[in-house]
Amino acid sequence: MPLVDTLGRPLRTLRVSVTDRCNLRCEYCMPEQEYVWLSRDDLLHFEELSRLVDVFVALGVDKIRLTGGEPLLRRHLPELVDVLARKPLQDLALTTNAMLLDEYAAPLKRAGLRRLNISLDTLQPGRFLQLTRQNEHARVMRGINAASRLFSGTKLDAVIMRGVNDDELEPLLDYGASIGAEVRFIEYMDVGGATRWTSETVVSRREMVERLTARFGAVTALDEPGSTAPAARYALPDGRMFGIISSTTEPFCRDCDRARITADGMFFTCLYATDGLALRDAVRGGESPDTVSKLIEDRWHARRDRGAEERVEVRDRTAYVPLATLREHPHLEMHKRGG
Ligand code: SAM
Repeated sequence: MPLVDTLGRPLRTLRVSVTDRCNLRCEYCMPEQEYVWLSRDDLLHFEELSRLVDVFVALGVDKIRLTGGEPLLRRHLPELVDVLARKPLQDLALTTNAMLLDEYAAPLKRAGLRRLNISLDTLQPGRFLQLTRQNEHARVMRGINAASRLFSGTKLDAVIMRGVNDDELEPLLDYGASIGAEVRFIEYMDVGGATRWTSETVVSRREMVERLTARFGAVTALDEPGSTAPAARYALPDGRMFGIISSTTEPFCRDCDRARITADGMFFTCLYATDGLALRDAVRGGESPDTVSKLIEDRWHARRDRGAEERVEVRDRTAYVPLATLREHPHLEMHKRGG
């Protein structure tokens, strides 16, 4: 019997955060000057992660995405990829801001990484600096170029914010086409470190589709029965495809088969969940796979999360977690639990 939660949702996708450190300070994710970091001793070692992933695979997980923080800041990451690539997975992907991809694209490919999701919110160097506090746009573009020569099926993810980069829908689509990557526009979410979130800054899926329709002509929504991917996919009249992740205005919790593990082994069953299940001690302490599996099973069986859908019902919506609470409970940060 497959493991399902109270709404009948299976556990199939795991986001594994390998570090909470990041080399960018994106306005919508890490806008503060100071953060409380995980101590290095607390991070799961690769061997511990491998054993934990085996337990998840036995429970039905067949898609893994490495994330962070910026996952390429985790030392020797290709070694972890090499270990995970040997497991029976349908997909093994990595989410990155591409700052270090020029150096890592080839070792990751050799290690068996199948796909990349690259976050790129702007094609304008000055805007990149404003948005991330790092003057490194050229380096990111070099990283993306290196990766696009080696990987196919790359997704280019852009968080769209009104008055910040919402004039770049078309240039981003053009750029994606030029490197053979499918662009996904992400609605600005109120979760984690997005302490400056306002509903006015959100550009909804509906508005994005309207704008692209006005520019290109009819945009066709693709029918993808059975898909649990977070993005709804569309085609432009010229055949180019793109996706929109509408977690803020039209979420899709009923299909959500995703869970997250933080770099220190905390298991979260929803991006909005406030209580995680600490698995590190069980894994580090040498508990049997059956014991660790039972902990995960019990948590997933009891899962009722519909975090994003519940947020839609909130009137006068502001940031989900106030800054003071984030400081007290850093695991609520997006850069800790993995976007
Ligand atoms: N550093 C890596 C990267 O930039 O892809 C991985 C971690 S990052 C937290 C993962 C994804 O979460 C990125 O695509 C980022 O844009 C997205 N993200 C972070 N905060 C967000 C927010 N408030 N709303 C929407 N997406 C967000």
